[in-house]
Amino acid sequence: MRLSSTWHREKVDLPEPPATIGIYTCGPTVYQRIHVGNARPFVLSMWLRAWLREQGYSVKLVENITDVNDKIYDAAPGASAELARRATRWYVEDTDLLGLGRPDAEPRATETVPEIVAAIEQLIEQGYAYAVDGDVYFRVGRYAEYGRLSGQRPDQVAEQEPNPRKEDPRDFALWKANKPGEDTWWDSPWGRGRPGWHIECSVMAEKELGPSFDIHMGGIDLVFPHHENEIAQSRALGREFARIWMHNGLLRFTGEKMSKSAGNVVTLREAVERWGRETLLLFFMTAHWSKPIDFSEETMAQAQAQWRGFQEALALPETGEDVQDWSRFEAALEDDFNTPDALAVLHEWRGRGSNTLLQRGLAVFGLAVQPSVPEDVRRLADERTAAREARDFARADELRRRIEELGWQTTDYRGGTALWPRR
Ligand SMILES: [Zn+2]
Repeated sequence: MRLSSTWHREKVDLPEPPATIGIYTCGPTVYQRIHVGNARPFVLSMWLRAWLREQGYSVKLVENITDVNDKIYDAAPGASAELARRATRWYVEDTDLLGLGRPDAEPRATETVPEIVAAIEQLIEQGYAYAVDGDVYFRVGRYAEYGRLSGQRPDQVAEQEPNPRKEDPRDFALWKANKPGEDTWWDSPWGRGRPGWHIECSVMAEKELGPSFDIHMGGIDLVFPHHENEIAQSRALGREFARIWMHNGLLRFTGEKMSKSAGNVVTLREAVERWGRETLLLFFMTAHWSKPIDFSEETMAQAQAQWRGFQEALALPETGEDVQDWSRFEAALEDDFNTPDALAVLHEWRGRGSNTLLQRGLAVFGLAVQPSVPEDVRRLADERTAAREARDFARADELRRRIEELGWQTTDYRGGTALWPRR
């Protein structure tokens, strides 16, 4: 399998199965219900794990939860820890609605503080970090490859986290001294404070996956500074860290990047309630993961129509099967996990009535459907088939309406009535 890597700027081969693949995905900062756009990296990593397992790999997928952060302090002054706990529950509940299962580990920053402090101490000992008035900063100038992931010349990297007491404007915080109003803190060799965001991810990734692992994922907006800083911290300590860097494109709401300031916030929960989890998952399949994806009424309606088409096809009897054809679906995913190409193959199978292949392909994306039809609906469908055979079309129409009232759609075929849920 080959995957596009931001670090390499080309596609990179994974080792052959049955290798063990470690994947780390940057998870949410928990202070509100997550946006539908935040679900994209979650969905992509759950799909990739499912596919790699299907191909015979062992996979460990780790997705962290950032539960101490400025945004959380600001959202709940005096009660940040409680908000973080509540918003962590929301995040788990809302991503559970997708029906894709959970990552293998979901470490929390607040449960990793001793390991983070130890890593910062090591960086200081080795000259890669220094303390100033209770803060600790990474010394960017000491790390020669700084800027490589984001394609910046080290001497032209923009200032981050402005503070006149830093040695160099490019330096970034590893530890932040406690400020008035910040009600979550830990004691450390540098005084009371809390970890910086970037070091959390380096330490949680290495704690769960070891010093070297295959894939690091996250949104394209995390390349700089977050991931640039993760690499700098971990490699400064002599670890290989992640090999392949997969960055997903962002979800745009009617053409613009969805942002709260633009007033275009749709939570994951709202999207699932409105469209159904299957339509949302199918929508995510329509764009290559590395590209932006447009979320709008139109694109969601198109995804819904596609999902209905699959449901209808699967309710009909199987008409054509060519088991060899699985290799085309496989080829699409093995070449950079190209879900739009895989979706095109699924549509060919739908058109041909290759239901076994279609079921198997949809299942990779959490879209297996074999809905059990309630007994009363099945009986009405049998009556409808009999009415059609007796050419009693008025009776057949009435039975179709009754079936629809019970939430089911019908498609007639010779000798039967196929049933599929209306959603
Ligand atoms: Zn991260």
